[in-house]
Amino acid sequence: MVVTEENLLPKGDEALADYIRRLRIKQNFTQKELSLKAQIHIQTIRKIEGGQTSRVNQKAKSGLASALGIPAEYLDAATKKVPLETITTFKFCPKCWTAGTTPDQMWTDLRSKYCFACGTALRNRCISCDEPIMSLKFKFCPYCGVNYKFSPN
Ligand SMILES: [Zn+2]
Ligand SMILES: [Zn+2]
Repeated sequence: MVVTEENLLPKGDEALADYIRRLRIKQNFTQKELSLKAQIHIQTIRKIEGGQTSRVNQKAKSGLASALGIPAEYLDAATKKVPLETITTFKFCPKCWTAGTTPDQMWTDLRSKYCFACGTALRNRCISCDEPIMSLKFKFCPYCGVNYKFSPN
């Protein structure tokens, strides 16, 4: 069977445990192989697949994402049980975006990585605490209070 991008997306009501297991089996990894590839402890993988935890830290998340060949956002979608669009829609250019306005469609395209206007890397996470940005109605991150347009330089 051909692996299409569609198959790699979390399904509507799929739990993180089922999602990880499905992708792992699809790629013929054992739990041990996945743990080596993702550089996370096999116990962590057992816990996630056993549904004992839905809290995956950033390091484990990016390890899993690269081992399974998916964007880390897909794991966020499965973890937080929100539609993928909710996560991918809130991508914006920290330079050009004005708080409270709808982000340009050119930014929110799943494949866009850089601003079409100025070339700045697009953001969909808080620059300070790395939590995914869930709503651009807010100017500030609800988790750490940083201004989303904040730039370190
Ligand atoms: Zn820009
Ligand atoms: Zn934050």
